[in-house]
Amino acid sequence: MFDSWESTVAVVVVILIAYAVVLSIGAIYWTYRDVRGRTRDGWAQAVSVLLVAIFNMPGLLLYLILRPHETLNEAYERRLEAEVLMREMPEERPACPGCQRPISEEFIVCPQCRTKLRQPCASCGRPLDLNWTACPYCATPSARAETSPPASSAAQDGPPPPAEEPTAATSTSSISAKSPTPSAAKE
Ligand SMILES: [Zn+2]
Ligand SMILES: [Zn+2]
Repeated sequence: MFDSWESTVAVVVVILIAYAVVLSIGAIYWTYRDVRGRTRDGWAQAVSVLLVAIFNMPGLLLYLILRPHETLNEAYERRLEAEVLMREMPEERPACPGCQRPISEEFIVCPQCRTKLRQPCASCGRPLDLNWTACPYCATPSARAETSPPASSAAQDGPPPPAEEPTAATSTSSISAKSPTPSAAKE
């Protein structure tokens, strides 16, 4: 009677120990696979596996709290998406020649560095490119065309534009006046 009771306890204890061993081996193996998907750092991998091997379930809990949030695959996909976005951005939006921040085609000055980008038409008020000599919408000659004689306007280097213009805007406008394609001059 007493003997059989003792042996029953022994069997239960053996089963519990076997269960715990299988569980901890499973936890160690799962941690090993999980951490390899999250970091390439050998030290971090070893510490994570040792943490679970020594402390078992509390170690596993600690690992779940401390492990890197992203798997390597997720990080790779996020980098890929960011690269695609970076490649598409500059072609869609023009940049300010003064500070390189994105600007709109309609801006007259850069809202960040106040570089003069365009001038409003004297008649209809639409934004005109600084090297245009007439408004394309209402055919009014622009202020730039009025200040210099039309015969020499194509080949001018010298005559300085109005004094209130910032230097960055005057240099870009004189460059683009000489070369027919401003985008080619930038490259
Ligand atoms: Zn700017
Ligand atoms: Zn106009």
